[in-house]
Amino acid sequence: MYPDIYFESIYDIQVKNLQEMNIKGVIVDIDNTIVPWDNKKLSDEVFNWFKELIENNFELCLISNGMSKRVEYFSNQLDIPAIGKAVKPRKKAFIQALEILDLKRPEIAVIGDQIFTDILGGNRMGFTTILVDPLIENEFITTKIMRYFERLIIKRGMYHD
Ligand SMILES: [Mg+2]
Repeated sequence: MYPDIYFESIYDIQVKNLQEMNIKGVIVDIDNTIVPWDNKKLSDEVFNWFKELIENNFELCLISNGMSKRVEYFSNQLDIPAIGKAVKPRKKAFIQALEILDLKRPEIAVIGDQIFTDILGGNRMGFTTILVDPLIENEFITTKIMRYFERLIIKRGMYHD
């Protein structure tokens, strides 16, 4: 349930951080990780962040529980393969992503803003998991409830070791 690492945002995750962990491929969540959940505008910073990863030969894949149409839009914008309606934390979409990246599991990192989907799913697969803060608060009540439990878990994690 715990992420391997926490960063405030994707922009704090630098190429050298990933290389130090021997990561060669990255699976990235979409909503609230690279773009606010209610909006379609990717910032220049997001484009630059992906560009740097591509220039450093990282394999990339987007994976989202969101609707296929929205996911396809970001896939085209960034020119990165993507899997929509992923039903994270279920394994199916992560296995598809594993095939796309064509790397060993420890060489893959999952980056996302939700413990019960991104982090739990990534941990179940044996990937390195990286938690970031959500870009904006989600208005869905189920997400708010999950967020409450996430905070409890993160808090407990801090006192854990
Ligand atoms: Mg998300």
